[in-house]
Amino acid sequence: MDTHFTYTLDDLGKTEFEGTPLAVIGHPIRHSVSPAMHNAAIAKLREQDTRFIDWAYYRFDIAPADFTEAVSLFYKHNFLGLNLTIPHKVQAMDLIYGVSPDGERMGAVNTLVWGEHGYDGFNTDGYGLKNALKTDLGVTLNGATVILLGSGGAARAAAVQCILDGCAKLYVGNRSVERLEQLMSVIKAMPGGDCAEAFALAEPPSDLPDQGVLVNATSLGLKTEDPAPFDVAHLPKGWAVYDMIYNPDATRLLQEARACGLPAANGLSMLVHQGARSLEIWSHAEVDAHTMMRAACRALNLPPRLG
Ligand code: NDP
Repeated sequence: MDTHFTYTLDDLGKTEFEGTPLAVIGHPIRHSVSPAMHNAAIAKLREQDTRFIDWAYYRFDIAPADFTEAVSLFYKHNFLGLNLTIPHKVQAMDLIYGVSPDGERMGAVNTLVWGEHGYDGFNTDGYGLKNALKTDLGVTLNGATVILLGSGGAARAAAVQCILDGCAKLYVGNRSVERLEQLMSVIKAMPGGDCAEAFALAEPPSDLPDQGVLVNATSLGLKTEDPAPFDVAHLPKGWAVYDMIYNPDATRLLQEARACGLPAANGLSMLVHQGARSLEIWSHAEVDAHTMMRAACRALNLPPRLG
């Protein structure tokens, strides 16, 4: 089996994935760096413990219409774990047997684990963000003021994590008011959720404290010509900026933040930490995030950096 290849639904019936297979499923998926990250971390685990001798992580392009059939085939073929990415994280909620409290609140799962009765679902995106903010920017969510941009799946995971970790104030802004209101109703229903406040993108929050973090969870910035989703000139000098986008390496938002002297980081560390947590859930072993970060940088042709 080739861990660099992109497999399809057809291959699930025709090909034998021996040993302990894992996979990332998405559509599109060809550019995912998850196989590189996970196979590097698995190789490291294998050096310490022979039970990982036959573990391998594959990549599958599965269209939304084929997702239900694919999940039952992955289960039948004993795939121990699946990572789900765009656009499958929400649809999976209807196909799993059990769901973690985080996954339930976030309304989406990105990690499935083979269980006796079916796959169980977890969401490691919030964990990934929390660790990335700490590692890259020295920001702890507890007691922090956060401005969150977006109301899609990634924003919902981020908002839930902010509330779970006890942020002092959470401002959420989004282009579509309807989606923003849906997210706010989920957050407000959580214990501690009354610190959340919606804002219109054209009227950013004022009277901000000296320190805080702005998190971009919109897809504005994925194209190099995209404008920044927020004018960082509104932020006090003690603020930090995190963009969940990692490709391109520096979005307009990050460029403008750095030009203003604000610490800023891209979403690669979030990707690495959510992946490390998934592998920990499957393996019950401690996973080295630095190994994953090195592999992700190699796969993206970026200079090595710490994870
Ligand atoms: P969704 O499609 O669920 O949400 C997209 C969000 O972007 C919505 O809030 C949408 O607003 C907003 N948006 C899209 N286009 C525009 C625009 N032109 N102007 C303003 N807002 C816009 O995507 P996800 O939540 O899954 O992902 C969001 C981003 O986070 C993506 O860039 C993704 O790559 C990144 N991500 C990174 C991860 C990591 O590990 N680093 C993990 C998960 C996601 P509206 O509601 O108005 O449409």
